[in-house]
Amino acid sequence: MTAAGTRTLAARACGAMARRVLRAAVLVLIASACALQAAVSVLDTYYSPKNKERPVRSSTRFIILHTTEGTLRGSGAKLQKNGEAHYMVDTAGRIYRIIDRKRVAYHCGRSMWNGLSSLDNYSVGIEVVGFHDKDPTAAQCTALKNLLDELKKAYKIPDNKVLTHSMVAYGAPNQWHKRSHRGRKRCAMRMALPSVRRKLGLASKPAIDPDVKAGRLVVADKELQQLLYSVEKKAAPKTPAPKPASGKKTPAAPPPSSTKKPQPATTTPAKPPSAKPPATGPGVVGPKHSPWDIAKTAYNASTTLYEFPDGTKKTGAEITNWKAIPAGTKVTVGGAETPSAPPAPPAAETAPAAPSATAAAPAPAQPVPAVSPVAGEREPASDPDAPVSEEEATARYAAKEAELGSLVIGPKRSAWDIARDAYNAPTTIYEFPSGIKKTGAEITNWRAIPAGTRVTVGEADDGNEPEPVSTLGDAGFSKGAFGEVANAALAALAGAEWNSARTIYVQPDGTYFRGDELDAAKLGALSPETKVFSGYKVGGPVTATNPAFNICGPSWRDEGTHFLLPGGEIVTGDKIDATKIPPRTMVLYKD
Ligand SMILES: [Zn+2]
Repeated sequence: MTAAGTRTLAARACGAMARRVLRAAVLVLIASACALQAAVSVLDTYYSPKNKERPVRSSTRFIILHTTEGTLRGSGAKLQKNGEAHYMVDTAGRIYRIIDRKRVAYHCGRSMWNGLSSLDNYSVGIEVVGFHDKDPTAAQCTALKNLLDELKKAYKIPDNKVLTHSMVAYGAPNQWHKRSHRGRKRCAMRMALPSVRRKLGLASKPAIDPDVKAGRLVVADKELQQLLYSVEKKAAPKTPAPKPASGKKTPAAPPPSSTKKPQPATTTPAKPPSAKPPATGPGVVGPKHSPWDIAKTAYNASTTLYEFPDGTKKTGAEITNWKAIPAGTKVTVGGAETPSAPPAPPAAETAPAAPSATAAAPAPAQPVPAVSPVAGEREPASDPDAPVSEEEATARYAAKEAELGSLVIGPKRSAWDIARDAYNAPTTIYEFPSGIKKTGAEITNWRAIPAGTRVTVGEADDGNEPEPVSTLGDAGFSKGAFGEVANAALAALAGAEWNSARTIYVQPDGTYFRGDELDAAKLGALSPETKVFSGYKVGGPVTATNPAFNICGPSWRDEGTHFLLPGGEIVTGDKIDATKIPPRTMVLYKD
């Protein structure tokens, strides 16, 4: 007994010494590794258990910045539980690792940039503890700069691909905005301001919103958009900007968008009555030539010109009623551009913004139900499309906030204006003038909310969960719709990837096909209930010898993985019972 005890003690002492030696060696190793890589040090307090389920990203093209809209402890717990970021930076400048940076974290939700959607698959996400309308602390800026420097270097990401969540998030059509739109989130909006970016070591940023420019999205919050794309007042000592200093008063080219600007808002409906004998031919709308056939994804671009038989002209961005385009309308892709302004090449994201049809386009194009005409509308700026200075944009944003009152619904402020995509969340509380309270989840009739209703939005940067699966009906597709309506829906839901192999269309009966398999017959068979999986692959079927793990690895258990059962039912990976997967089940997954 005693001998055994002694031996144990000796062994323990020995082990302790070995551990000390080992620890010293490890410390030396870590120190030298640090010296070599100058890696930022991270804390594991909020390291997420979701790590083991998450697939490794195949490419990393962006860094996306967020604000948690809450305090350290609450935000950290939520991010950890759901695996909703790669890093979190607290107000003291401490950096926490949440998800390994090579794996997918769910931080963007419904997102798009330059036609690429589901950006979780292509980005590293950093949550900054704080609020969208407050600048990060000095300590946060220092920490963020170090972290960004490391990530930019590791993934070869230029400064103008470091974006804010508010830049890339977009909303599906809803009660207030009939088209897919920017403005779903205000997350991290101040990190788009030149003065803040400078503190983060970011020398450049995108000059325009490429998806608005291409007509894939409309702008639902003009002041927010002006803030995101605001410029420095003067060509300040903003050193390595490889572009002509973008002073707001001196745009490189004279406003090219003048073709459409004088368009009075009153003539919006594209419905010239004279639907008479059509001139036919390529570029002319006819029974067999829809705008889509002619212009493809540029059908609703601000650069595509429609000349109606009665002589009126509109750009694609100005047209809302696509069913009313009369036969004989002439379509010229690129026709709305001034000849002198060359079509901005891919560099458009960074170019000094030929102040194009970005922000102004949606004003007429948006059939908003009387709730959100915005304050900025009455400013008769010389060129409404010109980039606004940071000071000016900040002031306009603040003025709108002040004018509309922050949290009370009124004639100019809808539930969406206040709560954005949390408008129907169970954590958003509506207190009616009568004193009755309801959560967003309990409200069904959004038109019946009386003015004076007070809205309280729950904390936390929500809406980051895996990009929700949408149906074509969500984007306005209805049975018997014209082809271009269907195609507009496809483009709105899957961006430029609507016809790629990574977009999967699942019919209500469970049949499915890839975007690159779309042909006329398949298009014709689409229904409003068709689900669209953007950025996915299909594998399977799952069998006893080919379990889901073999198909997509540990992410088979993930909430972002979908099991397509033979009858058409879809069950997510976190809900599937592995012992009861029926034969012929397929797996939709990200990799
Ligand atoms: Zn966010």
